[in-house]
Amino acid sequence: MHRGEATHCPYCALQCGMYVSGGLAETSDGSLTITPREDVPANAGALCQKGWTAAELLTGGDRLTTPLARESRSGPLVPVSWDDALDRVAAAIGGIQAEHGRDAVAVFGGGGLTNEKAYQLGKFARVALRTSQIDYNGRFCMSSAAAATGRAFGMDRGLPFPITDIAAADVVMMVGGNVAETMPPFLRHLRNTLIVVDPRETRTARKAALHLRPAPGTDLALALGLLHIAITEGHADQDYVDSRTTGFEAVRASVATWWPERAERITGVPVARMREAVHLLGSARTAMILTGRGAEQHAKGVDTVTAFINLALALGLPGRPGSGYGCVTGQGNGQGGREHGQKADQLPGYRKIDDPAARAHVAGVWGIDPAELPGPGRSAYELLEALGTPGGPRALLVFGSNPVVSAPHAGHITGRLAALDLLVVSDFVLSETAAMADVVLPTTQWAEEHGTMTNLEGRVLLRRQAVAPPSGVRSDLAILSGLAARLGRDKGFSDDPGTVFDELRRASAGGVADYSGITYERIAAETGVFWPAPSEDHPGTPRPFLDRFATPDGRARFTPVDHGPVAEEVDEAYPYYLTTGRILAHYQSGAQTRRVPALNEAAPETFVELHPDLAERLRVTSGDMLRVSSRRGATEAAARVGTAIRHDTVFMPFHWEGVNRLTNPALDPVSRMPEFKVCAVRVERCDAG
Ligand code: SF4
Repeated sequence: MHRGEATHCPYCALQCGMYVSGGLAETSDGSLTITPREDVPANAGALCQKGWTAAELLTGGDRLTTPLARESRSGPLVPVSWDDALDRVAAAIGGIQAEHGRDAVAVFGGGGLTNEKAYQLGKFARVALRTSQIDYNGRFCMSSAAAATGRAFGMDRGLPFPITDIAAADVVMMVGGNVAETMPPFLRHLRNTLIVVDPRETRTARKAALHLRPAPGTDLALALGLLHIAITEGHADQDYVDSRTTGFEAVRASVATWWPERAERITGVPVARMREAVHLLGSARTAMILTGRGAEQHAKGVDTVTAFINLALALGLPGRPGSGYGCVTGQGNGQGGREHGQKADQLPGYRKIDDPAARAHVAGVWGIDPAELPGPGRSAYELLEALGTPGGPRALLVFGSNPVVSAPHAGHITGRLAALDLLVVSDFVLSETAAMADVVLPTTQWAEEHGTMTNLEGRVLLRRQAVAPPSGVRSDLAILSGLAARLGRDKGFSDDPGTVFDELRRASAGGVADYSGITYERIAAETGVFWPAPSEDHPGTPRPFLDRFATPDGRARFTPVDHGPVAEEVDEAYPYYLTTGRILAHYQSGAQTRRVPALNEAAPETFVELHPDLAERLRVTSGDMLRVSSRRGATEAAARVGTAIRHDTVFMPFHWEGVNRLTNPALDPVSRMPEFKVCAVRVERCDAG
C-alpha cells in the first residue's frame, strides 16, 4: 500500500517522520492525509496535535501566492510580478551599499530553514552581498548550550547519542524543558525515573518522580548546590574524572562554599530535595542530564549550562553508554541551522569564521579569495538593535523568521525595523514582520520542496516534497538565485536543493559538522545519517564521545562558574517575575500554527498564568483581563489562575505578539543569548484605571 510521500513534520526539532498522501498523484482532489511513520526512531508511529494537523498549513486560505510591494513606506502592499519584486530589491540593495557600504545590508535567517537554505543564505550574504551582517533566530534558541558544549566537549551536537538511548537511562534530569507540551512523542523515551527542574509545574513536571522548583533565574545556583552535594557526599566518579576530564580541582574548589543551605536560600529548593536528586543521579547505573531553553535563555545561560555539564562530568556521565549530557534543541532545524554558516561567527561545517584555515577552505569551495570573506558580524539582537541607526544596516532581508513577535524588547525592535530604508521578507504567509515589509516574497513551504533537516540527535534527515506548490510561489533557493544574478553573481547560486547539498558537503568536509559522506540516497536508505560522516563508506557517528571528546587532548573540560543575580530583579514598581514558554498547540511565533484551524481552536489566544495567592491580592479570577508591564512595554491578556506557577511569578506563552515587548534583552557575554526567561513586571486589572 502506498501511504504517500515519506517526509518530516514542519515544526520542532524532533522532526517526526510522517507520510503525506494525496498531494502529488495526478488524481489528487487536493485533500491531503497525514499518517505517522514507524521507521523514524524519534517518533516511531506517534505525532502530536501539531503534526497531525500539519496538512492544514498546506491548504490554508491565507497563503501568499504573489509578490507584494509598496510604492512608499506608508503606502499599501500591492501585488507585483516576480521580476518587478526582485528588480526592486536588487536595485535598492545596490543603491544602499553604494552609499553606505557593504555592511549597510543585513540578512536575518531562521532555525527552521533546511540545511540547504541555511547554507545558501550564509553564502549569499558573504559572496553576493559581501556583508558581514548575518545572523539568525537560533541565537535566541540554543546558542547558550551550543557555547557551553563547545567549551566542555569541543563539539556542539544537541544530543550526542541517539534519542532511543534515553530509554536506557535509569534516571533522567530534565532542566528547563517541557517536552510534554513542546514535543509530546519525546515522552516515549522517558521511561524510567524522571527529575524535572522548572519553576512551573508543567505537564512534564507532573510526570516526574521529583520536581525541583527553583525561583526563576536561579538554576545556576541550584546546579552549584547539587555539585557540592555530589562531591561532598561521595557521588563523584573519581576514576572517570581522572581518565576522561581536565579541570576538576578548580571546579571542586569553586563549589566548596556552595553549601546546600546557601543554594536553598537562593533557589527556594529544599536541601532534602536537592539531596534526593543527587542521590538518584549518583546511585543510578545509567543517568542523563538534559537541558532546554529554561536553563539556557538567560544572561548567564552559558554558565548555567556549564554548571549542569560540570555536574554530569563529576558524576561520570558524558560519553558512557546509556548516560550523558544533552541539549534538547527546539526549532525544526535548530541543529543544522547552526552548522552551515547563517550564524554571524561561523562558516559551513561548524567552522569559526575567524579561523584562517576555515576561511581558506570555504573560500576555495566558493571560488573567492579568502580576503574577500567578511565577518564576523553582529549577533542577532545586536544586529536588530542597530537597524536604521548611524553606522548600522539600512536594509534587512528576512528568511524564515518573525522578529516582530519573537525578538526580546520587541516594541523597540519593531521601531528599528520601521526605521529601515528597505525591509524584505520571504515567507509563505503575511506574518507580523512581513506585514511591515517594503517587499514580500511568497515562498514554498516544508512539504512543497526537497531539503535536509538535522534533528536534535544530529541525525540528518530528508524532508521530501509531497505536494505541488501553488502557482506563483518560489523556493527560497530560487529567490536567492534570482537576487544573486541581479547582483552580478549568476553562477554559484543554484535553485536545486540536491546541487546545493552537494556543495554543502564539500564546504563542510573536514569541519566539526562534516557532512561530506552524507547523500540524499544514503539518508533515504538508512532513515537518516548521524554527522560527522567524513566519507560515503563511513557509518556516521551516533555516539561521538564514547572513546574521546572532541577536544585536542580528548578529555572533557570542567570550567568553574559562579551564580549571579538575574539582569533585572523585582522591586516595588515591578514586583513579580515574568517567565515565558511554549504551549502544546503552537510553535515559535505562531505565524504558522495560529493559521491552522484545529490549533487555533485548541488555543485561540494568549493568557497570563498566575497563582491563586497573587490572584486574590489583585482581586482577579480566571478570564479577567490583565495588563502586564515591564520597563520596556506593556501587553494585555486574560488571567488564568492556577497553582502550577509560583506565587511570585507569572507565565505567558510567546506565540502571540505582545509578551516579548516585556522581555529583557540583557545578553549573555559569550552566546549573546537574551534573558528571555526572567524579567520584572507589574500586573494590574485592565479596569483598574
Ligand atoms: Fe513531532 Fe514536533 Fe511535529 Fe509534534 S511538532 S509532530 S513533536 S516534530
